[in-house]
Amino acid sequence: MTATATRVLVLNSGSSSVKYQLLDMRTASDSGSAAGTRLATGLVERIGEETSRLVHTPLAAGGARRETEGPIADHEAALKAVAAELAADGLGLDSPELAAIGHRVVHGGLEFSAPTVVDEAVLKEIERLVPVAPLHNPANITGIRTAQALRPDLPQVAVFDTAFHTTMPEYAARYAIDVATADAHRIRRYGFHGTSHAYVSRRTAQLLGKAPEDVNVIVLHLGNGASASAVRGGRCVDTSMGLTPLEGLVMGTRSGDIDPAVTFHLKRVAGMSADEIDELLNKKSGLLGLCGDNDMREIRRRIDEGDQRAALAFDIYIHRLKKYIGAYTAVLGKVDAVAFTAGVGENAAPVRAAAVAGLEELGMAVDASLNAVRSDEARLISPEYARVAVAVVPTDEELEIAQQTYALVNA
Ligand code: ADP
Repeated sequence: MTATATRVLVLNSGSSSVKYQLLDMRTASDSGSAAGTRLATGLVERIGEETSRLVHTPLAAGGARRETEGPIADHEAALKAVAAELAADGLGLDSPELAAIGHRVVHGGLEFSAPTVVDEAVLKEIERLVPVAPLHNPANITGIRTAQALRPDLPQVAVFDTAFHTTMPEYAARYAIDVATADAHRIRRYGFHGTSHAYVSRRTAQLLGKAPEDVNVIVLHLGNGASASAVRGGRCVDTSMGLTPLEGLVMGTRSGDIDPAVTFHLKRVAGMSADEIDELLNKKSGLLGLCGDNDMREIRRRIDEGDQRAALAFDIYIHRLKKYIGAYTAVLGKVDAVAFTAGVGENAAPVRAAAVAGLEELGMAVDASLNAVRSDEARLISPEYARVAVAVVPTDEELEIAQQTYALVNA
């Protein structure tokens, strides 16, 4: 890395997609505020199909969004196409200004509690975790290997979704099952969305004008996947996702918490295979399973038209959310703020209002007019009198990955 290398490319490699952002970290502050200039952003989707699509937005050049369609065979071809787009804007990956590539890696197990420069040993560890993250870790590994081939001289940094949760005390992380069986198969609660929970809890502290060490925050990351976390003084002490991202809140297509006996019942009585049950609970449940739609916008529209199924799905979603707010209030003892983030949390005012409704005894309330304001900024939506601040804090996982990556390579 040279003294002028201040750019970080962030890659989020999924099984058939790659999302990317190029950021210049020169202006980044340590405060957790939205610093770090975004130079370009984009995504490649439907990799491996005839109709792959690359959408690229060169923000620095002030250029217009470019879209290309056509077959992109694999991740290597995808990354090469991204490199070509960046080069066309004078932001090529061969630039000496590129300091590092930061990769989102979903599962870091107990092994990785901090961002890590990737070498062969690290890749082997990430590979060893594939059985607990079969959908995600293989794609993440492919992304890293491809980027390594493109720029072998550059540090590749893995930033793990699970890392922020490794501070959970053992009594929150362990399931109450036979210890030998659990340990033999690495069965415990790992938690996910950690990069978002880390960023949002810090940003919430900043919004309150306090240091992260001085506040307790309940973070509600409500996207298509959804998770809650209890953060005490900047450290995660509990989170709703577990061994996999299936546990916890009701999600777009995932059931969240259920009695585990439902699975044996489905096997014994309905004759379903493990794979079928997996698919049912991960892809055909949650809001989708309950009412046929997993997009909160569509659900709200149907509710406005008097649709009972959509209304029940919404109520089930809110009931679960409320239970976690209550549980984490008890876990933390004292709560300074509840922060809503991600697609639903940032945009769906009715979800925020309903989740906090009736929690006045816990010191929580939402001001209807503040809640109705649409904004991209972090903001408070609780009335002055409320003991607990309720906030909307747009998450920025790419910025968080870039900051952690940049900090590590400059350490
Ligand atoms: P992902 O988990 O895929 O990263 P996001 O955090 O982008 O998801 O959230 C996507 C979800 O956010 C959508 O499925 C939709 O339910 C919800 N959403 C997005 N915009 C709105 C909106 N304006 N109102 C209500 N819900 C929204």
